[in-house]
Amino acid sequence: MTRNDILDYLNTIFQYKDFTEKYSVNGLQIEGRDSINKIAFSVDTNLFTIEEAVRQKADMLISHHGLFWPNLSSITEITKKRIQLLMNSDISLVGMHLPLDKHPEIGNNVSLIKLLNGKLISEFGSVSYLAEWEEEKDLKEVSDILDTNLNTNTKCFDFSKGKAKTFGVCTGNGSSELYSLFGKQCDLFITGELRYETIGLSREYGISLMVAGHYATETLGIKQLQNRIKNNLSVETIYIEDRIDY
Ligand SMILES: [Zn+2]
Repeated sequence: MTRNDILDYLNTIFQYKDFTEKYSVNGLQIEGRDSINKIAFSVDTNLFTIEEAVRQKADMLISHHGLFWPNLSSITEITKKRIQLLMNSDISLVGMHLPLDKHPEIGNNVSLIKLLNGKLISEFGSVSYLAEWEEEKDLKEVSDILDTNLNTNTKCFDFSKGKAKTFGVCTGNGSSELYSLFGKQCDLFITGELRYETIGLSREYGISLMVAGHYATETLGIKQLQNRIKNNLSVETIYIEDRIDY
């Protein structure tokens, strides 16, 4: 397959070309060779994931966190090393940030709701979803499911008397999304990481918090995307594990 075939396929899934995002570039960030036989998938783009993609002879790296962020103002030091290694190896880098968080079937947030057997209620914030369980759940039961399935150590702040029926989900850093939950009917917010001040506010609003790890919560969407590509396109795929427990 060609690089453009893959990009077209990604656009049919995510419509990323019409998606405006202020944080990152979605789609092709670095152009490598035309012919694609093997695609590597990762949560982050760093020297370790790039070296592994090179070692495993991938033609393309698709990453939730690419290399281009608002604070990138020069290509020096570690950024130079990363980009140089990709370019010398002729590997394309594709970023898929918020479209992968928000996707209604394979996205990070919906995948987490499915993992917890929740029923979708609505979207909130910019990429997050509100869901509910048929019966009220013990918070302990919920955090056990997260720990077992995401291989993580969920930190729980109980501000709803140990129970929850409605819950909001934002994988990764959910601090800014949490603000749009305040005042809504919601017992629990599940995210990857949070700023300190949001914890005190949640207590005042009576919304319990579960912080399950930025990396751990964002492995779901990229693995779903890998599966979809593996099942629908004639390319080999690999997932590069590069866990930082935060
Ligand atoms: Zn993230």
